[in-house]
Amino acid sequence: MPLPDLVNTFGQDLLRRHGRRVHKLAIHAGFTCPNRDGTKGRGGCSFCNNLSFSPNARALPRVAEQIEAGRRVVRKRTGAERYIAYFQAYTNTYGDVERLDALYRSALAEPDVIGISVGTRPDCVPDAVLDLLCDLRDAGHEVWLELGLQSAFDATLARVNRGHGFGEYRRALLAARGRGLRVCTHLIVGLPGEGRDAALASLDLVLALGTDGLKLHPLHVVRHTLLAKGWQAGGYRPLAMDAYIGIACDLIERTSAAITYHRVTGTASRDILLAPEWCTKKWAVLNGIESELRRRGTAQGARARGRIAA
Ligand code: SF4
Repeated sequence: MPLPDLVNTFGQDLLRRHGRRVHKLAIHAGFTCPNRDGTKGRGGCSFCNNLSFSPNARALPRVAEQIEAGRRVVRKRTGAERYIAYFQAYTNTYGDVERLDALYRSALAEPDVIGISVGTRPDCVPDAVLDLLCDLRDAGHEVWLELGLQSAFDATLARVNRGHGFGEYRRALLAARGRGLRVCTHLIVGLPGEGRDAALASLDLVLALGTDGLKLHPLHVVRHTLLAKGWQAGGYRPLAMDAYIGIACDLIERTSAAITYHRVTGTASRDILLAPEWCTKKWAVLNGIESELRRRGTAQGARARGRIAA
């Protein structure tokens, strides 16, 4: 039984709603992050790769060129003929609205791009940005706002130098969903000081507020980060793969089947990954989650609120 039969994946959700395969294409639009330039904080999140900052935006290919490069690869690999432009790198609402408007519209101008997904921090979505996203949604495009929460615990967020708390997430989430925008919430499993119980508690708080999508990611240690220094000094131990798979399954079971999972694991490239080594093996983790759900005889929503027997 493949994973999409057990988990409401974004790919299946798009296929159901659009009647054809739709694939995300990642865009690097040259943004930086207010948690690094002093606007919200300095130094960035402890797990964020420092060298990946200060991108030379002028050297980046234009959005249309990035889409063309992505579609060539994805079409060959998956057969998808429709795409969602995923503004993924860094804080994709960190700019004046005119710039954002032009960027998002340049992606939507591509005839086979049916929507956008915009990744950002919860403290960086002013009303003007939400209004812009609503305008694009009202023009008939599929629009997702991806909010990086990572943990619902302010102590953990402070520990990883996140520069915002759960309160900012709550405000952004309610403002966006109050306008009818679709929101995908990012959570990281295995943050310093957090184990299974904290991951479940974070999810419960997110579900209690409501969300449309979820993205799970194991915390990995990459080069040139504060976390790498802590790991090298023995102050942080990443999760084992089996532990991550078990927690991911617990979270999936607890999530209503109506919510879309945009991702249940994440990888890092070998050139920057320090630990854990299994974070290069996407398919081993996905197959592990599928096998574990099958072994338990459960699926997404099996232990969602109201369905938990005991
Ligand atoms: S993880 Fe995101 S919010 Fe944190 S420093 Fe990096 S880009 Fe900024």
